[in-house]
Amino acid sequence: MSSVTFAQLGVPAPIITAIARRGIHTPFEIQAAAIADGLAGRDICGRAPTGSGKTLAFGIPLVVGIGRAEPKRPRALVLAPTRELAEQIATEIRTFAGPVRVGVVYGGVGYGRQFDALRQGVDILVACPGRLEDLIGQGAVSLSAVDRVVLDEADRMADMGFMPAVRRLLDQTSRQRQTMLFSATLDGDVAKLTRDYQRDPVRHEVGDETPDITAATHLFWNVAKADRTAVTAEAVSAAWPAIVFCRTRHGSDRLAKQLGKAGIQVATIHGGRSQNQRTRALADFTNGKVHALIASDVAARGIHVEGVASVIHYDVPEDPKTYVHRSGRTARAGLGGVVVTLVQPEQVRDIRLIQRRLGLNEALTAPDANALRALSPPPVRRPPPARAVEEAPTNGTQSSPSSHVRPAGADGGRNGRARAGTHQARPAARDGRRTDQAGQRRYDGMGAAGSRRIPGTGAARGHR
Ligand code: ADP
Ligand code: MG
Repeated sequence: MSSVTFAQLGVPAPIITAIARRGIHTPFEIQAAAIADGLAGRDICGRAPTGSGKTLAFGIPLVVGIGRAEPKRPRALVLAPTRELAEQIATEIRTFAGPVRVGVVYGGVGYGRQFDALRQGVDILVACPGRLEDLIGQGAVSLSAVDRVVLDEADRMADMGFMPAVRRLLDQTSRQRQTMLFSATLDGDVAKLTRDYQRDPVRHEVGDETPDITAATHLFWNVAKADRTAVTAEAVSAAWPAIVFCRTRHGSDRLAKQLGKAGIQVATIHGGRSQNQRTRALADFTNGKVHALIASDVAARGIHVEGVASVIHYDVPEDPKTYVHRSGRTARAGLGGVVVTLVQPEQVRDIRLIQRRLGLNEALTAPDANALRALSPPPVRRPPPARAVEEAPTNGTQSSPSSHVRPAGADGGRNGRARAGTHQARPAARDGRRTDQAGQRRYDGMGAAGSRRIPGTGAARGHR
């Protein structure tokens, strides 16, 4: 946490007001480092761990002073590797964008709404590379007016094979553009991208090379294969909301079924599920309707849900990088969290290797749900971005043209309008997660937040 303020970084007052409503008052390190340069129009090459607040770091410079788009010709582009991440970025930017129109496009859903929104005009387009190329091919959108570009999780886009598409897309944007790149690592393909597509970038590097998992407590439990599900049920009961990682889709589905039988409410998210199912699962988890999110690696990376009490590696992670990215889902934004790895006898060696690479030297112990319960952090206190709870994320872009008449002149006018219109138009949003007066998150129908016990699960009682 830095001592500089958003105002000192040059953030306009209406945006400061809007983010303050979400409990954001002091810039995180990457924000303190990057926002002023971003606002000044500089290219940025940023490395910061997951959960460090990169979205605001680029989102604020994107919104401020952006030109108004003609139909099908967005002015700014954010490229992101996954649908979930694209949705989250759009959702977060909308919370302070005022009348700036933020659209989002990704594959796996229909074209209709995306066509419509692009035709009406989208100022900032958040997109996954594949669907964007598809839409360009159909004449639904052109990038020729784009003069601000963000590449978010560039390393992940490289991992997923999107680099050729990213390059083709960048080649279609304005040569005069500002390019802000953010990534957990800046080597390999990402370094090449910087070399080829950024002009004299300011480099801001924050934290370690990897997501910061040091804020979490790490437990390694010896389990026999046959006991894994029962132990997982106990662990979830002891420290939820929990994200449980499986290696395969099939394994995720099977575990979900078994946990369901044990009285634990779960949602499942993996590549084999439809976009609607994934959106729904994430919403149920975010809103506290389920105890656990069962996830495969690809589906979960880059997603942030606050107040995740524990991450459980049901299947041991394949490598240190996977361990870090999975584990980075908890203990975010300064909140605590516990990471539990279930280790079968024949996996001890692999886990030792991962531990050594990451500097974790915790001993392998017998499962101990009581210890886990004692370590699990208190529930999250801060409400999420408005849209995340108020509306189910839509399939396509959103815009409401009537509210987008831009007053002539400076940002002040635009943002004044934002305060009068957009934000007050959805006051209920901040209640969406049902916070009580002390800001404590409550889980309706699942007992008070203070008690982490899941009613009716033998698993939980077994450890009392
Ligand atoms: P990253 O993209 O680096 O993984 P995000 O931008 O998703 O991180 O931010 C992680 C979480 O921290 C989000 O819930 C976000 O709303 C919150 N956050 C961001 N900046 C701040 C801040 N300055 N103060 C408090 N919370 C913040
Ligand atoms: Mg992010």
